[in-house]
Amino acid sequence: MKRTIFLQDENAIWLKGNIHSHSVFSDGDLTPEQMKEAYKHHGYDFLAVTDHDTYTDTRMLTDEKFTMIQGFELWANASNDKDIHVHFLWDDKIDGIEPGQKIHLPVRTGKESIALCYKLREKGCYVMLNHPHWSMLNSSEIEDENPYDAVEIINYGTEWLENTGDGSVFWSEMLYRGCRLWNGGGDDNHNHHELDSMYSDSFGGFTVVKAADRSAKSIMNAMKTGSFYTSTGPSIYDFYVEDDEIHVVCSPCERIFISGHGRPYQRKFGRHVTEFVTKLRGPEKLVRAECMDAAGRSAYTNPIYLD
Ligand SMILES: [Zn+2]
Ligand SMILES: [Zn+2]
Repeated sequence: MKRTIFLQDENAIWLKGNIHSHSVFSDGDLTPEQMKEAYKHHGYDFLAVTDHDTYTDTRMLTDEKFTMIQGFELWANASNDKDIHVHFLWDDKIDGIEPGQKIHLPVRTGKESIALCYKLREKGCYVMLNHPHWSMLNSSEIEDENPYDAVEIINYGTEWLENTGDGSVFWSEMLYRGCRLWNGGGDDNHNHHELDSMYSDSFGGFTVVKAADRSAKSIMNAMKTGSFYTSTGPSIYDFYVEDDEIHVVCSPCERIFISGHGRPYQRKFGRHVTEFVTKLRGPEKLVRAECMDAAGRSAYTNPIYLD
């Protein structure tokens, strides 16, 4: 039996996107139109403009070759009232959220924040806990039972700002505890510098979905089912478990790691490694792959659950 998180459909397509960005409607320097053009020009297929506490409607910018995902980033609190940022994404409309609407919590406490996360997830939003390391959050501060679909493990904006964009250890810790969360990756760009500058915060962290088609609905379906990987460089072309073998296929990398719910225990190194086939050890409850290139940039799959 073949098990995978990637959509199994012969017509499925790979689409590259940035799911985290800020425009002039919060603290970014570019308009949604300028960002769309920049990302389209750089070979991206989709973009979410996720202004702080504000829903910027970008649906009219979707065209045949480029899809806009809807969303916003909330200044929220964890259950212990520690400040965190939470991402909400959707395809078209969410009942109760109007274009241009400010989404402020009347009292910003963990109780209020988490209740809103559950409410919006119920209405169809994809909910992601953003940049935990930049928020100085420990994984133990998040309840086992939580309203999140995903944890943002690549946040290029905070990596660029303070080298605090890597949430992969935080995510691993949540997986060790048995929390079922997808990973997430985006730029969190604000564009205070020119796009071609060394100080640009665009085009550093991205999400690649395997979706039925280019529609926002299919992209969000892929996100919700884990049919995607996140990356700062490498590409992953396949990842599956067939019978007792794990298969990873990727662009040329130096290191491929297979991890699970415990100690990372399988690896393949080489100059141009593009495939790793290895046997399951037996007790794994889940497996995931990380492919690292010669520049130290990584791509992460979501876990395949084996139970
Ligand atoms: Zn943030
Ligand atoms: Zn942000």
